[in-house]
Amino acid sequence: MTNDKRLMTNTIYLDNNATTRVAPEVLEAMSPLLRDYYGNPSSMYSFGGQVARYVKTAREQVADLLGADPTEIIFTSCGSEGDNAAIRAALASQPNKRHIITTQVEHPAVLNLCKRLEKEGYRVTYLSVNGKGQLDLNELKASLSDDTALISVMVANNETGNLFPIERIGQIVKKRGILFHVDAVQAVGKVPLNMRESPVDFLVLSGHKLHAPKGIGALYVRKGVRFRPLIVGGHQERGRRAGTENVPSIVALGKAAELAKRHFGEENTRVRTLRDRLEQGLLSTIPHCQVNGHPALRLPNTTNIGFKYIEGEAILLSLDRYGICASSGSACTSDSLEPSHVLQAMGLPYSILHGSIRFSLSRYTTEAEVERVLEVMPPIVEKLRAISPFKGEEDETQGWLKAVSSQQLPVTQGESKKQLVAER
Ligand code: PLP
Repeated sequence: MTNDKRLMTNTIYLDNNATTRVAPEVLEAMSPLLRDYYGNPSSMYSFGGQVARYVKTAREQVADLLGADPTEIIFTSCGSEGDNAAIRAALASQPNKRHIITTQVEHPAVLNLCKRLEKEGYRVTYLSVNGKGQLDLNELKASLSDDTALISVMVANNETGNLFPIERIGQIVKKRGILFHVDAVQAVGKVPLNMRESPVDFLVLSGHKLHAPKGIGALYVRKGVRFRPLIVGGHQERGRRAGTENVPSIVALGKAAELAKRHFGEENTRVRTLRDRLEQGLLSTIPHCQVNGHPALRLPNTTNIGFKYIEGEAILLSLDRYGICASSGSACTSDSLEPSHVLQAMGLPYSILHGSIRFSLSRYTTEAEVERVLEVMPPIVEKLRAISPFKGEEDETQGWLKAVSSQQLPVTQGESKKQLVAER
């Protein structure tokens, strides 16, 4: 067996909020489009028309999952494109309004765009969250003004799984005629979404979070809402997104949407039960740890747990030796010790900020995999705590800072991220 194959078969994949495995049915559905039906769906001849029919079916499947009309669906390349297209379109349709409201815990696809928009002269309000990651709707109400063009709020947070009250936010902003964009990249297939009864004007999803391949997404734009395309060129997607359609991936997304609808109940029963088993198992066998986020109002597949006195990335490195994939929930891309902006916004103590791990399950997660994690985690945490320079510190922040400034971090901690990548 090759090394790559061994890695694949021995892997326990609990990082499904980062990306998901392509469902076998999805692969099967898209294969003929790669192999046989390679025509351009815009071509006049029937070899192209045949391909266009596949695109039509996929659009209907995605619309069906969202309770939308097929004409309201635009295929994109990813969630980030959808977020950028929606926000830019909302602003372009109201050139006299220069205020945007979003939250401090959005994905960088929204946050970094908002920072860019500030440089372009827009005013942005970043709503705060409390210790459980929840918004204060009074803060939202107080920040509304006649100049507000758009509110952009995620349906579910990628790091904690926290759900935001989209319907209630919609009721507040719709009274003022403000456009409403939601990033539903983590929520689609896991929480009920019905655009026919929703106040949402723009909704974004991404294929690779729901068992379709990377490089495909969709943007819902409510009928009647003015839309100016981000990508200009040909007439594809009814003039709303230029570029020859990525037909195999569009077909894959359609199939994934159909499967997501079929498996919706399972996400909320079997996957939730496994997540709860994992979480309760960890909390009951490992001292000094806590769940980050709201215990109930969150995605059924996600748990984010803070393990005090150790660095999350040191845990990840140890888990990797057992073939277990999770995430530190950290937004940092370098090996600086900058913790997650989401956990920081929640005002969590220093030791939790640095010692947090996100496990995200999927319908392919098995009970045996969860039991394996429960078996290996307690000794990993115990071992790392034994060598931790700030264990038992009265003032955790001081302990951490002392360790960082005097470079006392054990090799597995300060070096962890670099090492994790190097060892692959
Ligand atoms: N929004 C959220 C909440 C996400 O979790 C992600 C990806 O992690 C994105 C947007 C970006 O999606 P994509 O990777 O398809 O660009």
